[in-house]
Amino acid sequence: MNLKDYIDIIEDFPTEGISFKDITKLAANNEAFDYTIEELKKELEKEEIEYIIGPEARGFLFGSAVAYAMGVGFIPVRKEGKLPGEVISYTYKKEYGEDRLEIKKNAFKEGAKVAIVDDLLATGGTVKAATDLLKSMGADVRALAFVIELTELGGRELNKDVDIISLVKYP
Ligand code: IMP
Repeated sequence: MNLKDYIDIIEDFPTEGISFKDITKLAANNEAFDYTIEELKKELEKEEIEYIIGPEARGFLFGSAVAYAMGVGFIPVRKEGKLPGEVISYTYKKEYGEDRLEIKKNAFKEGAKVAIVDDLLATGGTVKAATDLLKSMGADVRALAFVIELTELGGRELNKDVDIISLVKYP
C-alpha cells in the first residue's frame, strides 16, 4: 500500500511557506489506518516495549492504536496545563520562544522500556523534548516511530542516540 495516496499536502498551513502533511484522510480510511498501525507495530515489536508514549495531539491518535495493537499501555504527553494532578514538566526552546510538555508523575516505573509514536518527524524538537523528559524520569527510550518523516529538516540527526522508524518520507 502506498500511504502517500492518503496524505494530503496543504500549502501555506498553518503559516505561509509551510507545506503541511495532513493525515486526516489516512485515519478515515480503515485499510490505510490498519496498515499504518500494523507496520508501526511490526517495527516496534523488535523491541520489548512496555509503554507507548504519544505527544499531543496526533500522537494520541496513532500512539494509542499502536499500543492497543501491541497489547501494551499508552501514556500521553501533553501541552502545559492539560493534565490533572501532579505532573512532571519539561520546558524546551522552539524557533520562537519556549514550549512546555507535561506527563503524569509516576506514569511508569524507573527503567520502563518505552517508545514514542507521533504522526510526523520534522525538526525533531518535539520528540527530543519528549525523550529528554522521559529520560529524566528514568525511562529506557528504545525507539521513536513516525508515520511521516521530513528528511531535510534534521530530525534524525537531532535524535541520533535513539532508533528512528518512519513509514513515509518526504524531502
Ligand atoms: P518537529 O518538532 O519540528 O519535529 O515537529 C513535529 C511536530 O509538529 C509533530 O508533533 C507534528 O504533529 C507537528 N507537525 C509539524 N509539521 C507537520 C505537518 O506537516 N503535518 C502534521 N504535523 C506536523
